[in-house]
Amino acid sequence: MFDQYLCPNTNCNHQKSGKKGQTCPECGEKLKKVGMREGTSIIQQKRKRFS
Ligand SMILES: [Zn+2]
Repeated sequence: MFDQYLCPNTNCNHQKSGKKGQTCPECGEKLKKVGMREGTSIIQQKRKRFS
């Protein structure tokens, strides 16, 4: 229900969600389908790393 597609690369600061089959515009990683919990965790790791 709350699935979203995010760049799973925590070394990359791209935090916006995209669409299925897209790749990250910053690092080229394929966007990963994540649920609410995993998505939040990825964003938190990125924020931590890049803050
Ligand atoms: Zn990326």
